[in-house]
Amino acid sequence: MDGISPLITCPTRSTASDDLAAKRLFNKTQRTEEHRNGTPLMSNAKSQVDDSVFEVPTSNSPYSDVAKYTHSHTLSLLQKRRHTSRNSSGAASPIPHPRSNFRLNSVLSDDRDRSTSVQRQSALIMAAAKNLAFVFDIDGVLVNGDHAIAKAHHALHILNGDNSLGIRIPYILLTNGGGMVEKDRCTQLNEILHLGMPISPGQLIQSHTPMQALKEYYSTVLIIGGEGERCKKIAQHYGFTDIVVPHDILAWDPTISPFKKLTPAELAAANPRDFSRININAILVLSSSRDYATDLQLIVDLLCSSHGRLGTVSSDPVTERIPIYFSHGDLIFPNGHLQPRMSQGAFRIGLEGMYKALTGVELERIIYGKPERAAYVYAEEVLARWMESLYGEGSKLPENVYMVGDNPASDICGGNMHGWNTCLVRTGVFRGEKGKNDEDHPASFGVFDDVLEAVIAVIRKELGNDLKFEWNPRAQNHIFEQDKDHIRQ
Ligand SMILES: [Mg+2]
Repeated sequence: MDGISPLITCPTRSTASDDLAAKRLFNKTQRTEEHRNGTPLMSNAKSQVDDSVFEVPTSNSPYSDVAKYTHSHTLSLLQKRRHTSRNSSGAASPIPHPRSNFRLNSVLSDDRDRSTSVQRQSALIMAAAKNLAFVFDIDGVLVNGDHAIAKAHHALHILNGDNSLGIRIPYILLTNGGGMVEKDRCTQLNEILHLGMPISPGQLIQSHTPMQALKEYYSTVLIIGGEGERCKKIAQHYGFTDIVVPHDILAWDPTISPFKKLTPAELAAANPRDFSRININAILVLSSSRDYATDLQLIVDLLCSSHGRLGTVSSDPVTERIPIYFSHGDLIFPNGHLQPRMSQGAFRIGLEGMYKALTGVELERIIYGKPERAAYVYAEEVLARWMESLYGEGSKLPENVYMVGDNPASDICGGNMHGWNTCLVRTGVFRGEKGKNDEDHPASFGVFDDVLEAVIAVIRKELGNDLKFEWNPRAQNHIFEQDKDHIRQ
């Protein structure tokens, strides 16, 4: 099965008038031709397209998800299945180079000088600390909904320098959650966790964060999912120039979704245009759909259209089909309900089934988020920038990276595939018997009751037993004290 690639379906950039844009378009067009001619899309783990974006080849999944579930639709079977990647063969996921201008850079040269006293006290521990980093999942590890998980606060305080030597140990957050701008999510997390040193947007990767790279490929996009206008705001924040949301289309043609009636407020907020004269270049599902009937109808209409022009029907459902991207592939998520609730993956599988039934062909799509490769490659980019913020330019990516997660099928599966150490905690999705690892995706460093237990075990292994986990007011903790007012962006 040939995978879709934005290289194949890349529309002409309407704003490609400057030399750089023209060069980018040329590179992408050239790579499209390479792909069509059978040349491997990429020979390395990543291939640079231009200065701001590079592409990560997706892992292969030989069978469509919908085929696997044709005869087994129970949640228990879904939960037991093994999987690695859900992406189509040969596809690539573009991701951006993260920004490196964290404000922390401007103060750290001074801090590094002053922190030399700490290094003198324990050079070996400091060296080991610089070679260690944590990557935390959020939901089920640090928070559950709007509540902090017990001891998560303590675990992050230790990493923020609340230890006997005042050492800061780097960590970033990698979540399949989303639906709000990164800065807003950090504000929400900081209110829940009450950290002395707030979490910065430079430490946070949501499922849709790497999808900002797609703005380089598509001028007009349909944004699906999320509460109210939040996902439109996310797309604007990422720099997409021409954003369409379902309500814009419904306001233009109310008959397109027969069971949905816009409220006066929704109608007033919509931006109707003559969509029979506009090509939508790609569909981006940034968060879970809040209106399955309308969203599925519009997506199917566009996938069956000629080059994304509503009102048309393509004579060839493959070559004229516009691409569709999903921010993650999770089938279910835990909330306050007794059983887990359906998530974006369930929506996608429903769409795949409808599309196959209507056209007779498989729907090819790109999925971001854990456990997909792009999420982990992008996380390393973010971690590298964060290390520079903490320790200055030229800092190396740590050799000892520990993924701490609650979901074996995403956090642990992806971390293992990417060569990280993995810790599974028992405060979220995974509720296996105490002392037992997950059978399908066992955590390489073990199973822990909570994130604090995992953090302490990792520090003991990597830094030894000399570091104490109590706040010592006499410790030289210059970085902690100096940075906390500067780390906000
Ligand atoms: Mg989780």
